[in-house]
Amino acid sequence: MATSWGSLLQDEQQLEELARQAVDRALAEGVLLRTTQEPSSSDVVNYAPFTLFPSLVPSALLEQAYAVQMDFNLLVDAVSQNPAFLEQTLSSTIKMDNFTARLFDIYKQVLEEGIAQTVFLGLNRSDYMFQCSADGSPALKQIEINTISASFGGLASRTPAVHQHVLNVLSKTKEAAKILSNNPSKGLALGIAKAWELYGSANAQVLLIAQEKERNIFDQRAIENELLAKNIHLIRRRFEDVSEKGSLDQDQRLFMDGQEIAVVYFRDGYMPSQYSTQNWKARLLLERSCAVKCPDIATQLAGTKKVQQELSRAGVLEMLLPGQPEAVARLRATFAGLYSLDMGEEGDQAITEALAAPSRFVLKPQREGGGNNLYGEEMVQALEQLKDHEERASYILMEKIEPEPFENCLLRPGSPVRVVQCISELGIFGVYVRQGKTLVMNKHVGHLLRTKAIEHADGGVAAGVAVLDNPYPV
Ligand code: ADP
Ligand code: MG
Repeated sequence: MATSWGSLLQDEQQLEELARQAVDRALAEGVLLRTTQEPSSSDVVNYAPFTLFPSLVPSALLEQAYAVQMDFNLLVDAVSQNPAFLEQTLSSTIKMDNFTARLFDIYKQVLEEGIAQTVFLGLNRSDYMFQCSADGSPALKQIEINTISASFGGLASRTPAVHQHVLNVLSKTKEAAKILSNNPSKGLALGIAKAWELYGSANAQVLLIAQEKERNIFDQRAIENELLAKNIHLIRRRFEDVSEKGSLDQDQRLFMDGQEIAVVYFRDGYMPSQYSTQNWKARLLLERSCAVKCPDIATQLAGTKKVQQELSRAGVLEMLLPGQPEAVARLRATFAGLYSLDMGEEGDQAITEALAAPSRFVLKPQREGGGNNLYGEEMVQALEQLKDHEERASYILMEKIEPEPFENCLLRPGSPVRVVQCISELGIFGVYVRQGKTLVMNKHVGHLLRTKAIEHADGGVAAGVAVLDNPYPV
């Protein structure tokens, strides 16, 4: 995709002045992060990194990503209700990956005990890149779906005003008007509110499982504020607090500090380092309760990379979404090449292909949060080491998406304003609520565009690699 900001990117002095204005507007709009030095305090904050200009995205791909979101919601929900599929899909992974195994243990335990939860809430974000096809046209390819702690819906609601400001300063008012309004936090809160309502206890609250050090607090507050406007109160507690002060009554109702909890919203608990023995106990307690977990343990497992890879196998979508050939076709159109590394011929062949053409593949472990994937020479070394060992089953191999780079400026506190070659990743937020077997809500609620310099293979905004952006539809 060529950039329409071409001539503007030439004038260094103008860029610096524009950047100053953009940063001030971002601060005024609340596009904020706590600092790395003081991640537990809002005494000192800074702007969250963002692009100076919105990045061009073909409208057709934006529309396609929005159109397939309800299908992804249905798919995740179907996987989470299919113990046989989860068990079979993850059987080799849990032998080799301790984190997935521990999540799976909790899953098995609640299944055996009987699932007390009757209302289910999914807040997810499906991420895509724009694969540059042989004929030069871009195609929408899914990177992954996040079923736990999908973030930046709050800050993404505040960035359109910043890019509109930049374009207005340049007297590009027509262009400014083309920037899409976006309010994922409102939609996410709508899902939480629906789940809260269906839980059906007027005095119950929402419990956000928070990290001790949380730089992205303003993103979370945006959702909290939307809930409070509906008169729904949210309390923030850590896993440690749950293990000390959380309890279940004889009906499996969850109480925190004596307060009944209707919905548990996880913004923690997606990485191994976030779990001590005490925290695993707290997670189990939460899962055993009848509170609406967002996500419940099954839905977290449905978001693993291993599940993503198995979903791309012939016939699997048809099995999970019977009688819905159109949804299946829409979903499949977004799948990149995904390959199992389980022991056996299929895995052997995938490894041979990746070693023969390393630049065309990415090696992924069952991890979230960015910075875990292996590319290029690192991937080759890992594959050489892993290839004769069962441990390889804890990874999957994925086709590497190669978008066409474009120019933009990435604005970060303390960094000079520079034009760099970039690529973008588009995320669409999805919300669904199910009561028993009945789906009562299934929506897309907004988008997130993140842009990074091409020299970084991996990593999101939280990892300090990507920055917030807005799609400029063309
Ligand atoms: P995580 O759960 O850690 O976010 P992702 O699968 O989203 O894992 O990968 C992290 C980052 O790595 C993505 O944001 C993207 O920049 C890059 N990436 C992941 N998969 C691919 C791929 N198939 N092709 C190109 N880049 C990829
Ligand atoms: Mg990701």
